[in-house]
Amino acid sequence: MQDFSEKIQQAHDEKLGRHLVANINIDAGETLLEERPLLVAPHWECAQLKCAQCMEESYVMCRKCQVFPLCMDCSQHNDFECEFFASGAGSRICKDLLVKNYGICALLKLLLLLEDPATRADCQTLFQRSVDLEDYRDGEGMWQEHEEQVVRPLLASGLVEALPTQQLTADVLHAHCVRIDCNAFEVTGRDGETLKGVFICGAGLPHHCVPNTVVALDEQFNMKLYAAVPLNAGDVIYNSYTNPLMGTSQRQHQLRLSRHLDCSCSRCQDATEMGTHMSSMKCRECSAGFSICEIGPDGSGNWRCVDCNAILPAVDVHEVLAEAGDALVDAKGELQVYESLLVRYQQLLHPNHFLLLDIKQNIASILRAAALMNSMEQPCKKLLARRVELCSDLLPVCRAVVPGISKLYAIALFEYLLALVELIELQFAESDLDKKEYVAQLRIGSQVAKEALDLLRFEPENSAEGYLSDRISMELERIDSDLMKYGGR
Ligand SMILES: [Zn+2]
Ligand SMILES: [Zn+2]
Ligand SMILES: [Zn+2]
Ligand SMILES: [Zn+2]
Repeated sequence: MQDFSEKIQQAHDEKLGRHLVANINIDAGETLLEERPLLVAPHWECAQLKCAQCMEESYVMCRKCQVFPLCMDCSQHNDFECEFFASGAGSRICKDLLVKNYGICALLKLLLLLEDPATRADCQTLFQRSVDLEDYRDGEGMWQEHEEQVVRPLLASGLVEALPTQQLTADVLHAHCVRIDCNAFEVTGRDGETLKGVFICGAGLPHHCVPNTVVALDEQFNMKLYAAVPLNAGDVIYNSYTNPLMGTSQRQHQLRLSRHLDCSCSRCQDATEMGTHMSSMKCRECSAGFSICEIGPDGSGNWRCVDCNAILPAVDVHEVLAEAGDALVDAKGELQVYESLLVRYQQLLHPNHFLLLDIKQNIASILRAAALMNSMEQPCKKLLARRVELCSDLLPVCRAVVPGISKLYAIALFEYLLALVELIELQFAESDLDKKEYVAQLRIGSQVAKEALDLLRFEPENSAEGYLSDRISMELERIDSDLMKYGGR
């Protein structure tokens, strides 16, 4: 199921548990690990039945076991799970088990993988890290949802009696749910729907908010892990399970909820967040200074201006952030509301603050959607120019938070490219740009496209990023042909 490169080896220590380290010096882009998923399953809340084999929508069931959905294109699914219900211990269980309780699908698949001697050992590697059930029950996480959609229906289904050696209790089932969540990546099916893909090695990598690897996932749900930056022999292989465009407090909150982990990586301990100031506030005392959090990023410390040393109490910061967070939720996709929020919070927050970035991304995507919808009408140059400006604001932050080969930065470059090309073509058509100015802008576009393609060159062809590369190449061809036409090359 896993294919390790000889460039890495397994290691173990108290702090990180089982992990991987580089054996030799490794170049950026080199493949470290390739892995098939242990299981691919719908999200807990998914109500649409999906084929047990290919995970596309299915409205028909497997004729043999009559329990799992199986689409018209697939002739069979996992032998063990099919036999279990067709003629094995599960044959007396009601056939509408999944139709009635589709939320149990992921856990059911895991239980059958555990029952199957061929896959049991692989599953058990997931169990090496303990699950703190008390913590999970009291937290604001998924306990209630698991209880209602998964654990209770499963306990009532007769499956527990059909799998006696597993000694399944509500607690065991809850712990399995947590293990599935903690070891899953969001994978995308061919129909564009997202699913949970559980990987044993890939998902077991320790977390760092500035990962030194990139995870690539193709349409068959295969994972490839490659180096994002050059690695030295002995370096620990890290992955990131959070969104790098979130500020430290947001990332830590999300990591606690989704992965039950407290991060203390170099970015989390750096109040300037790698010099981006993504969580910094404007100083209220002096005009030019920014306040950064003094003690741990858990919010226990006050904020102090790096210029004038003025203190900004933590409660004030939290108040601003909570208020802005609520306002963002209330904005509900309204362009003007976002623009006025931007004006308001630019007075209080560092220009790179994660909340401002969030607002800017919202505005840019509204403008992009509007451009697509009104493609018949003349797009407004002012709005196009605004989109270019917002996309360009995001670039330096995206570059800084994920060093090396970065899909995040590649996508940000692509968004910028689309907006730029649209704007300059219109400006040239309306003679706002002369030929020389147009050519100069096209050259910028060409550079941006090449940089984005370069960042995506290690991604599989049959993946979302592979298709993005094709799209950027098309854009680059158009730019190059205009450069030939007007630039005399
Ligand atoms: Zn299928
Ligand atoms: Zn079947
Ligand atoms: Zn961190
Ligand atoms: Zn100050």
